[in-house]
Amino acid sequence: MSLHPVIDDTFDLLRTAREASKPMLQPRETGHVLSITPGIVTCSGLPNVGNQELVRFPGDLFGIAYNIDEKEIGVVLLGDDSKLQVGDEVSRTGTAMDVPVGNSLIGRIVNPLGEPLDDKETLPEMERYPLERPAPSIMDRDFVTVPLQTGIKVVDALIPIGRGQRELILGDRQTGKTSIAIDTIINQKGKNVICIYCAIGQRTSSVAKVIANLRSKGAMDYTIVVLTEGNTPPGLQFIAPYAATTMAEYFMEKGNDVLIIYDDLTHHARAYRELSLLLRRPPGREAFPGDIFYIHSRLLERATHLSAERGGGSLTALPIVETEGQNISAYIPTNLISITDGQLYLSPKLFELGVQPAIDIGKSVSRVGGKAQLPAYRSVAGHLKLSYAQFEELESFARFGTRLDDHTRKVIDHGKRIRACLQQPELQPLSVQEQIFVLLALTHGLLEEIELEQIPETETLLRNSLSELPAPLLQKFSTEQPLQASDLRMMVDAAENILKNHRALQSELPDKKS
Ligand code: ATP
Ligand code: MG
Repeated sequence: MSLHPVIDDTFDLLRTAREASKPMLQPRETGHVLSITPGIVTCSGLPNVGNQELVRFPGDLFGIAYNIDEKEIGVVLLGDDSKLQVGDEVSRTGTAMDVPVGNSLIGRIVNPLGEPLDDKETLPEMERYPLERPAPSIMDRDFVTVPLQTGIKVVDALIPIGRGQRELILGDRQTGKTSIAIDTIINQKGKNVICIYCAIGQRTSSVAKVIANLRSKGAMDYTIVVLTEGNTPPGLQFIAPYAATTMAEYFMEKGNDVLIIYDDLTHHARAYRELSLLLRRPPGREAFPGDIFYIHSRLLERATHLSAERGGGSLTALPIVETEGQNISAYIPTNLISITDGQLYLSPKLFELGVQPAIDIGKSVSRVGGKAQLPAYRSVAGHLKLSYAQFEELESFARFGTRLDDHTRKVIDHGKRIRACLQQPELQPLSVQEQIFVLLALTHGLLEEIELEQIPETETLLRNSLSELPAPLLQKFSTEQPLQASDLRMMVDAAENILKNHRALQSELPDKKS
């Protein structure tokens, strides 16, 4: 006997639905934690896990599978391991590590996973790019042709950096490495360059100072800070520069110019050494693992100037490395010197003498930036490096109390003026116009009569009088055109007048002593 027709229909529907449904078997590979050491976990199971695959632990803790042996895998943890216990379940995710990328990151302070560390609103859902991406191929690259102005006279005039270049900043501790990088970021204001400051294993106090400086100069409007501190798990410190580069590549591939600072790769190498030793990989020179060169070269090869077909964007990298006892031929510094396109060497001796920025011009070089330098610099400061090198040589000679002939004394006097003129306080990057005018006065001998102590004051006077030069001439400084002899003459006359008027004014003032 049939039931009510409606109920019959419902039964039919349910029957067909049940027959149509085929339960999907979704095998889930899981394993268990075997041992925990700070930053590293060994796990059993997961026979099909891929190299560098992301694996998940309880409590939303993730790790990257680095050592894959037959019986166990070694996982680098990307977070705090305090709640993890031996025997906890670990499962595969089937994907490699990726990080969020996009405009919303600008102005934010994030960790290498892209999670905000500042007190602003949470980040919206964003596109994700893999952590490790292949560097652009040769055919996708173009020459470095556009300068990246640092705003630091000595760098822009003598060791110029181009957009897409990799320039190493190296020196002992507390020699002003971070300050050069931060001044460069501050100088990018209004120049359409997106900046990323990646702090790797830095002291909290120094990171706080950097962020305060960036904020006070309005540089956070175009900057992302990717932050790890000394007490951050080594896994996160290790991935920080790769994550920051992935974030930078998003902007570069959209055709933007990007500047990235890695502060510093010595801490990065140490974090990787710690992980490698815990993973029981064989140690090599200075106990670093054999692939330490490769981890830095594959990072820095991602910085480039893309060809016009690929959008023409660029990624300039300023990696920082700390030396010990001025030993630039230690393992990590030499590796990085050979990977990068030049280096700025900061000398503790100069720093002690009060020369700031303490850049040792003789040991610093820029292998590609010279071609990108603005022609105006070459017109006014073409021979500066040579004069300075001559001076340094004679200066060390003159220390022995030797009697000097007139020519030597002149060279030394001029050299001292060059050194005084290239000094610059931190957080005060100068515009191209200001730099050119001051360098012109220096190389045309207008500062020879001025006492060394008066040079900073005279420099400020010249910079403040820039408005006396015709506007079309000032614009010429930042273009591709070289300065004509008539332009130079006009500028020298203007500078002479400014200095003469200033001297006249000074002599009219009543004597300070009376
Ligand atoms: P660390 O090795 O600790 O990272 P560092 O090499 O990055 O140090 P900074 O922190 O940049 O060095 O600078 C060291 C000190 O020198 C700071 O107190 C800074 O204020 C000072 N300093 C740096 N550059 C200049 C400058 N151009 N003029 C005056 N002082 C400077
Ligand atoms: Mg520093």
